[in-house]
Amino acid sequence: MRWRAPGWFQQRLQVASLGTSQVTKILIVGGGIGGLAGALACSHSGAQVALFERAAEFSEVGAGIQLGPNVVKVLHGWGLQDALAAVADFPQRLQVCSATSGAELGVLRLGAEIQARYGSAYATIHRADLQSLLLAALKQQGRVQLNVGSTANRFVPHDAGVTLEFRRLNHDLETHADALVGADGLWSRVRQQLLNDGAPRATGHLAYRAMVAQSSLPERLRSQQVTAWLGPHLHVVQYPVRGGEWLNVVAIVEGKMVDDAENWDHSANATDLQRHLAASCTPLLDLIHAIDHWRLWGLSIRPPMRGAHEQAQGRVALLGDAAHPMLPYLAQGAGMAIEDAAELARVLAGDGPASAGRPASPNDVATRFGQYANRRWQRNAQVQARAIRNGQIFHATGPLRWGRDAAMRLLGESLLDLPWLYQGPR
Ligand SMILES: Cc1cc2nc3c(=O)[nH]c(=O)nc-3n(C[C@H](O)[C@H](O)[C@H](O)COP(=O)(O)OP(=O)(O)OC[C@H]3O[C@@H](n4cnc5c(N)ncnc54)[C@H](O)[C@@H]3O)c2cc1C
Repeated sequence: MRWRAPGWFQQRLQVASLGTSQVTKILIVGGGIGGLAGALACSHSGAQVALFERAAEFSEVGAGIQLGPNVVKVLHGWGLQDALAAVADFPQRLQVCSATSGAELGVLRLGAEIQARYGSAYATIHRADLQSLLLAALKQQGRVQLNVGSTANRFVPHDAGVTLEFRRLNHDLETHADALVGADGLWSRVRQQLLNDGAPRATGHLAYRAMVAQSSLPERLRSQQVTAWLGPHLHVVQYPVRGGEWLNVVAIVEGKMVDDAENWDHSANATDLQRHLAASCTPLLDLIHAIDHWRLWGLSIRPPMRGAHEQAQGRVALLGDAAHPMLPYLAQGAGMAIEDAAELARVLAGDGPASAGRPASPNDVATRFGQYANRRWQRNAQVQARAIRNGQIFHATGPLRWGRDAAMRLLGESLLDLPWLYQGPR
């Protein structure tokens, strides 16, 4: 038997269906960084939002995340400046080194230089801290209905809106709204229904991740900067989180995932990783050997977006990894989800040629979603493509590797700085 969703949102929708409310109502599937950012931004824009997360509580994996100035700028725009400053780190430099010789290949000055160039800092943060600050902002605002333990099964679009069928506490429920946003990640069901384009493709790249207390490391291995070590068929990135007290380390190697790819967090065998990195320089090997506990992710992706139809169709939009999963080699997957959220809110608030300052009404939400898709898909595709290319460059062997190292030594910062990305969308 199918039940109707009880409670606040259902009642509000009944009021709306009587025609007394012109507020746009949006359902968001997925409460990761993308879904939470989308909920916050859309409700800031005046929309009424209900979010559905399948997990019993909002939780994030124990790993770090880098936020370019383009992303920090968005978070500041949402009034999260102090919250971010309280939990993020703002490293002074990003250093690229050879994983085999240990030699420095290039440096990008972060800190004041990046701040002056782009108006915002380059930050590193624990994922759980980023999630917590988004959740705290949502709770303080108090306008978004947060449903945990609620798994979306399918949506049914119709002339007047969208119905979402979901499962909670062994009950099949449904709810209605004017529009729906799929922020349900790499293995998105909403995407499957919208685009029917099959499963993401395994890349043959494995991510080993660890978080280690800097106090547990010998002094020479502690670090407050971002370091990327590039080696044949591998790279390693390390940076500080939580006030610099912890070091986040991610090592990417090439290999096959034996387990269930959809479950992207497996316990890892440190010896396997040490084997992959056996030819590395002493400082890198020492760091890898100093860490006992690793988690393992098999990386899967989709090709770069091919058109606006992959970002939204009618009253259904995709946001974050659901729309544009990418390799993490530009450190911008969550960043693009946050940029998506900001753009969605902008079009709903009426910042666009067709909307001229008018907040979205239930009737024109499909047009607004079209604007959102047109404004987002090319930038997302560009970031996806660049992340794939970075993978080839980072893991290069032979002449390509030689050329990379020479170019980095010669051009240094101008190769590592990415104005088209860090300035934010135009
Ligand atoms: C090794 C690695 C390093 C990375 N480093 C960075 C970095 O430095 N900077 C950066 O910006 N990005 C980075 N990323 C990318 C970033 O992690 C992702 O792009 C980002 O987390 C995507 O967020 P999301 O909300 O779109 O998806 P997810 O985080 O996958 O969230 C999806 C949510 O939807 C929920 N869900 C799924 N299906 C359903 C359903 N049917 N019903 C209800 N809920 C559902 C899930 O439980 C989950 O909570 C990295 C990724 C990896 C793998």
